[in-house]
Amino acid sequence: MVESPETTRLVDRAIQVIQKHVPKFQIAPRSNNWFRRLLGKIGGTAGYWTTIGYTAYYPEDMDAKWSVIFHEGLHALRAKRMTLALFGFLYAFPISLAPIFLALGAYLWSGWSIAAFMGAILCFAPRTAYFRFLFELEGYEMNMALDTWMHGKEFALSDDALVFYDDQLSGPAYDWPTTRSLAERSVDAIADEIEGPDGYDDTEFYGHWPLKFKQDDPYYRDVLQFVRDNGLLHESLRD
Ligand SMILES: [Zn+2]
Repeated sequence: MVESPETTRLVDRAIQVIQKHVPKFQIAPRSNNWFRRLLGKIGGTAGYWTTIGYTAYYPEDMDAKWSVIFHEGLHALRAKRMTLALFGFLYAFPISLAPIFLALGAYLWSGWSIAAFMGAILCFAPRTAYFRFLFELEGYEMNMALDTWMHGKEFALSDDALVFYDDQLSGPAYDWPTTRSLAERSVDAIADEIEGPDGYDDTEFYGHWPLKFKQDDPYYRDVLQFVRDNGLLHESLRD
């Protein structure tokens, strides 16, 4: 699964940190899950990690970006806090409404059925998956914080980095969940907060309505502690 012993050690420790918050969290190769493999083929997301329930499935080249594991751990934590069922429903929203429209159309079986079936089709319209956007935004917020702690603000918040997040949040990686402009505004707002005087080591920048985590969230604290404990804190942030 991973090549370097150093990476293996860090991955194991990162999993332990996440398990403090989500005891059922685990990782598995994507190829173990036929369903994910299928989705990966359809969606072209073979290079991505995906979390289903409390298991994060990693792609073949997981070695390249082991730190993504804290992003996936955040999804698992969010799911645990709001229940797996609600998280799944909201993540898939509005597609999760399509079966309801279909059932309604079949039940009514009248002129109204056409409206219900149209409703089901509209559930697949792009730029409408607001909750998926929010969940991924908080996931990438974790990436931005972690990159800042490990590589410094200049690298973590460079124009290229921010454009990457804009692309992820409004593009095909998550089936165009929202508009480019909302993605840009949200990523810029997070970058501004991290840029702030204490941004790198407090948690004030963390979370967006209606997904606001409490300030000083212990998950964030523990990830920062992990960075410190493993000697990964960027020199510009050391006391
Ligand atoms: Zn994610």
